[in-house]
Amino acid sequence: MEIKNANKCYLTDTQGNTYIDTTMGSGAQIIGHNNPLIREVAEQIKKGTIYTIPNHHTRKVNSYLKEYINPDFDEKYIFCNSGTEANMRAIRLARANTGRNLIGRFHGGWHGGLDGFIEEHPNNRGVPPETNNLFRILPYNDEQCFDMITADMAAVIIETAQGSNPRSDVKKFLEKLREHCTRTGVLLVFDEVMTGFRLSARGGAEIFDVRPDIVTYGKVLGGGFPIGAVGAKPEIIKTRGVFYGGTFSANPLSMYAASLILETIIDKKHIQYDKLTHAGETFRSELNKFFVEQDKKMTVIGCGPLSRIVFTDKFIRNRKDRDNFEPENAQEAFSIKLKKLGVFVNGNGLYHFSMSHTPEIVEELINIIKLGCDS
Ligand code: PMP
Repeated sequence: MEIKNANKCYLTDTQGNTYIDTTMGSGAQIIGHNNPLIREVAEQIKKGTIYTIPNHHTRKVNSYLKEYINPDFDEKYIFCNSGTEANMRAIRLARANTGRNLIGRFHGGWHGGLDGFIEEHPNNRGVPPETNNLFRILPYNDEQCFDMITADMAAVIIETAQGSNPRSDVKKFLEKLREHCTRTGVLLVFDEVMTGFRLSARGGAEIFDVRPDIVTYGKVLGGGFPIGAVGAKPEIIKTRGVFYGGTFSANPLSMYAASLILETIIDKKHIQYDKLTHAGETFRSELNKFFVEQDKKMTVIGCGPLSRIVFTDKFIRNRKDRDNFEPENAQEAFSIKLKKLGVFVNGNGLYHFSMSHTPEIVEELINIIKLGCDS
């Protein structure tokens, strides 16, 4: 499948087939494809796409982040071009700040394709074991993880809602993790690449009311353009002698797009989180009702506008449970069915609603999924 055109929440392929898009650029496009902000970014092209020298949009983005998103963090963010790069910089900062190398990360988490983050991935060759040894894989949503988070670690990195297992019942777990990290002197990094500016304006940190020491962003912040960002408490980000540069880092296109996205998050003109959350909640409640009534071994889990269908009717606590209960290839087989019915689901199985997914389109999607269950 090759896409030729994307408009609002629809994708059209080179064969002329149109699909309801449920991935929206893997969560990057929160307003919709071909939205008014994207068209405005085109104006920046005429003024140059790359300066390497700092540009005025970056100053604006820093000040919006400071004033509206993370007032307790330093006003200077580190910008790069992807979530993976942001996480690479975040763990480097944590290591430099603490003088320790060991990083804790959670089973079922995803932080990008960086060496050390992909040990459990099926395509994990080419990573030296010495690199993997610098990471400790922790059981997610499981109190046993606390015994494994020890004072010889630089940081623990966690998604506030895991893509593999998005859920809204982890407030207590995140609070305990925060307390434990503070007690042991281990820095807490929230990877909000997917959840930042998506679950709410201030991301999972706001929804669960837990503050990290370092945060990473990507996806939505770039408004459809490549971006990554790292923010931290002032005493952490001021750590000296850490390298962060890159040719396209803080390029004027991405930074202009980021400034426009933040402006509309602040003025609520093009993004309203209550509508996004309502779309996600309707999707989950209507489908779960149907699955129970029809005795399907399926459940929709999620958090705010983010959902995933799991192919079991059992309660799952984490990715490990999902792997145990879900028949192999169930996700893929169902996505193939939906594609035939005019719905595109990404390989990662996540449904990201955007502002262009109107209540009518969400209803249509629910009906197509019900149809897909019976076909
Ligand atoms: N962290 C999380 C939580 C993500 O969801 C992703 C992307 N799916 C990444 C990091 C990596 O971001 P990117 O693909 O922009 O490198």
